[in-house]
Amino acid sequence: MRWRAVIGPLIAPAMTAQSELSQVTARLAEVQAGIDRAAGFTGRAASDVTLIAISKTHEAPAIMPLIAAGHRVFGENRVQEAQAKWPALREEMPGVALHLVGQLQSNKAADAVALFDVIHGLDRPSLAAALGKAMDAADRRIPCFVQVNIGAEEQKGGCAIAEVPALLKLAKEADIPVAGLMCVPPADLEPAPYFALLAKMARDSGLTGLSMGMSGDYETAIMLGATHVRVGTALFGGRPSL
Ligand SMILES: *Cc1c(COP(=O)(O)O)cnc(C)c1O
Repeated sequence: MRWRAVIGPLIAPAMTAQSELSQVTARLAEVQAGIDRAAGFTGRAASDVTLIAISKTHEAPAIMPLIAAGHRVFGENRVQEAQAKWPALREEMPGVALHLVGQLQSNKAADAVALFDVIHGLDRPSLAAALGKAMDAADRRIPCFVQVNIGAEEQKGGCAIAEVPALLKLAKEADIPVAGLMCVPPADLEPAPYFALLAKMARDSGLTGLSMGMSGDYETAIMLGATHVRVGTALFGGRPSL
C-alpha cells in the first residue's frame, strides 16, 4: 500500500508524541493523587506541597510532554547539564521554575545563580560565601535550602547536624534568603525518622520550608511536613544507570 509509505512518516511522530503525553499525564496524575492523599491525611492542603519534577539525565523530548501536561516546576542536579537543556526549553515555555537539587561547587555559584530559581544544596560556609557574592554580583537573591547530612553519612553531601545553626547564621549574614532545610535520607533505611528529625530541626530554627521525599517516599515525607518533594523516576520512568 503506497499511502502508508507516504503518510506513515507523517503520523508516526504525532502518535508517539500523543502516547507519550498520555503516559506522562497519567504518571503526573498518579503522583498528584499521592500528594493529595498524604496532605489530606494530615489536614494540609495539597497546594502547600510543591512537586519538583527531577528531569536530570532526561532530554527535551522527555521533558516537553510534562510541560504540555501543565507542569511548570523542574529540578536538575548538575549546573552544566541544566545549562545545556533549559534555556531553549524556557524560551519555548516561559514560566518554568528551575530548582538545583545536587551538590554545587563554589566555582559554579555564579552560573547557578544566573540559571536557577531555587538552590537546594547549600551545605558549607565556603558555598554560602560564594553564593552570597554571586547574588550580589547578579543583583538577584535566590532562595536556598540548607542541605543537612541527616544520616551522618561520611560519603554524603550536606551540612553536619551540629553545624546547621552556624551555617544558617552565615547565610543570613551573606543576605541569602533561606527557604528551609533539605535532606536525602540514607538509602535502604526507613526514611520516616530522618524526615521527622529534619522537620524538628526546621521548627527549632523557625524555618517553614522542608525539601524532602523522592519517588519512593514522597507520601511519607509529606505526612511529616514536606513542602517540596523531588520526584524523578515516578514521573519520567527509570534513568540509565551511570
Ligand atoms: C535524583 C534526585 C531525586 C529524584 O529521585 P527519584 O528517586 O528518581 O525520584 C531527588 N533528589 C535528589 C537530590 C536527586 O539527586
